[in-house]
Amino acid sequence: MLYRKIPKSGDELSILGFGCMRLASNADYSIDEERATKQLRSAIDNGVNYVDTAWPYHMGQSEPFVGRALAGGYREKVRLATKLPSWLIGTREDMDKFLNAQLEKLQTDHIDYYLVHALVGDLWDAVEKLGVTDFLDSAKADGRIRNAGFSFHGASGDFNRIVDAYDWDFCQIQYNFLDEKNQAGTAGLEYAASKGLGVIIMEPLRGGNLTRTVPPAVKRIWNETPVKRTPAEWAFRWVWNHPEVTVVLSGMNDEANIEENLKIADQAYPHSLTEAELQLVKRVETKYRELMRVGCTGCQYCMPCPSGVNSPLCFEEYNNLYLGDNPDMEKFMYAARVGGAVGLGNPAFASLCVQCGQCVEKCPQHIEIPTVLESVVAELEGPDLQERVAAAKQMFKQT
Ligand code: SF4
Ligand code: SF4
Repeated sequence: MLYRKIPKSGDELSILGFGCMRLASNADYSIDEERATKQLRSAIDNGVNYVDTAWPYHMGQSEPFVGRALAGGYREKVRLATKLPSWLIGTREDMDKFLNAQLEKLQTDHIDYYLVHALVGDLWDAVEKLGVTDFLDSAKADGRIRNAGFSFHGASGDFNRIVDAYDWDFCQIQYNFLDEKNQAGTAGLEYAASKGLGVIIMEPLRGGNLTRTVPPAVKRIWNETPVKRTPAEWAFRWVWNHPEVTVVLSGMNDEANIEENLKIADQAYPHSLTEAELQLVKRVETKYRELMRVGCTGCQYCMPCPSGVNSPLCFEEYNNLYLGDNPDMEKFMYAARVGGAVGLGNPAFASLCVQCGQCVEKCPQHIEIPTVLESVVAELEGPDLQERVAAAKQMFKQT
């Protein structure tokens, strides 16, 4: 495991952080505690010392899970990060109320890295007015938090002013080779680092979009290089190639992936990719842009929908339609997964959308969700949808 320093404190953090937003789950989407605990502890045993959770992850169950999973000596081995749910804050008192509840849920007397969660420009203005900088100062002074930061999903124009608005120790941004110019982007990464902030990276694989279904056209480009790496390794190495990056979070829930990530994190030094390799990644990026239809990362902030639509799942299947090479199979998978044949329960089709617009402002990727859902209906539903659902239910009942 390689380690990089938080500039202000000199704290040495593992370059791979364990993200607790997509933990190993049961069929009903509750956390598979036994498996997730083993995975988290094994990552820590192999050098990971940064664990990231947040109030809303797993519908509020991630923090209590992390508290239990770090019992028995693991808490002392890690720097623990969690986040103030900024959108739920109505008063200055709420901030203390949430932090104190989080300390209890996490079974700890301090949070090592505490972030104001999911800021966009307006939200920052609101919490700043309510006294969030005073809150952070006093929580640091009384020892409840050690380092203060923020996570960001806003427009690039708001990033620098938030960096400049407080004496932050670190920030967390979405960054991968498809997001160089999205949200904080490369300019934000470099600006934050120039101001002495540690930078934690989220969504290095863009919610799995860069690895889950690798389109044949992208595979062909990856295969051109004599150095053989998986798409995940290319994506991680590209992020770690930037010296401004401190930690890369991965929402790990699969043993083989954890092993692979740990191996990559042994070798991913800054500036370790050659110019030819960087050009290769650039070509893959261009190909993805040609193929993808919607930039959804699967963050779930738009959920739940009052009409029962599962937009992230609809968008995942919609992208798969374009990233794969078997449209009939993708249409079947849409019916199976979104139609409730595979564990989800109720149908969550795009056509259930009543265009209320409630989800739009919650989307950090600024996706016009109801509009894109109309395209999903047009391309993935159609008159034979119920037949496909019935066939999928039959198939999954038999297997
Ligand atoms: S716009 Fe559609 S998807 Fe969004 S919350 Fe309303 S019904 Fe749900
Ligand atoms: S549509 Fe937006 S808010 Fe919903 S999961 Fe995708 S990126 Fe997240």
